[in-house]
Amino acid sequence: MTASTIDGKAAALALREQVRDEVLRFRDTTGRAPGLAVVLVGEDPASAIYVRSKGKATREAGMESFEHKLPADAAEDELLALVDRLSADPTVDGILVQLPLPPQIDASKVITRIDPDKDVDGFNPVNAGRVAIGLPGFVPCTPLGCLKLLKAERGRLTGLDAVIIGRSNIVGKPIALLLLGESATVTVAHSRTRDLPEVVRRADIVIAAVGRPEMVKGDWLKPGATVIDVGINRIDVGEGTPRLVGDVDFASASEIAGAITPVPGGVGPMTIACLIRNTLVSAARREGFELETSL
Ligand code: NDP
Repeated sequence: MTASTIDGKAAALALREQVRDEVLRFRDTTGRAPGLAVVLVGEDPASAIYVRSKGKATREAGMESFEHKLPADAAEDELLALVDRLSADPTVDGILVQLPLPPQIDASKVITRIDPDKDVDGFNPVNAGRVAIGLPGFVPCTPLGCLKLLKAERGRLTGLDAVIIGRSNIVGKPIALLLLGESATVTVAHSRTRDLPEVVRRADIVIAAVGRPEMVKGDWLKPGATVIDVGINRIDVGEGTPRLVGDVDFASASEIAGAITPVPGGVGPMTIACLIRNTLVSAARREGFELETSL
């Protein structure tokens, strides 16, 4: 069997176009554009790239992008004061503080300070709690992107066995809660799980969010399984530019799986598309604007 490739790029483009259409209607009705504020502290090159592409996607969707840069030695109080200003600013519908933050700043304090109704990253404990008990809130963008890809591929997920490898607060745990909400039977594996290949072999759906290059092999999979690879790992292949690979060994997995996301071009593009989706949803909620599409 050769798995079909789940095209995250195309799915993300389609979602971004839907958002753009809704943004046009939002602007016509309310007289303003939805706004996303992105805060970058320091000069981390990977973070700077992420912030740039988030700003670009925001503008392409017809929204306002507010970019705030603080120096690497900024004090925690300075960042908290900025978060407070953005939380109070009526032109800002979404606030995102790019992680990681420098060591003098307590990231959890900053995230907790963001107005939960503008927390489009979904990292504030209030939103984590809402997701856990099935209340409307903001679902973190990568888990939401995974769910959208899965539903597009498998339709209803009711009763399917899902194994998630990884239990981080930003990826593994929220994905587990979302899949539980879809009535899948969910197993969360982690570094202490015994006989991981055997656990994975039970799964109709495998989500790998580990951070270990090509760890999941084809012979771990149940034939026909749907595989979502969240991992982004840079490996040195000795030619100057590192190669990007996922947590799944794509070559062997695509011999056994039914469908699989590539890296790059799978989950990654969906993350940004879900960020602008969450920003529009926030703006719509704050203005009492009704969206025509379910997004
Ligand atoms: P974390 O490092 O926070 O979590 C990794 C998880 O994997 C932990 O729960 C850990 O277990 C588990 N783990 C580590 N080693 C093993 C092992 N040998 N066997 C089984 N489980 C193991 O990572 P994140 O959740 O933040 O990210 C995971 C991956 O996803 C990374 O590659 C990251 O770059 C990528 N990512 C991609 C995004 C995208 O947009 N596509 C967005 C966010 C992340 P334990 O808890 O026991 O330590």
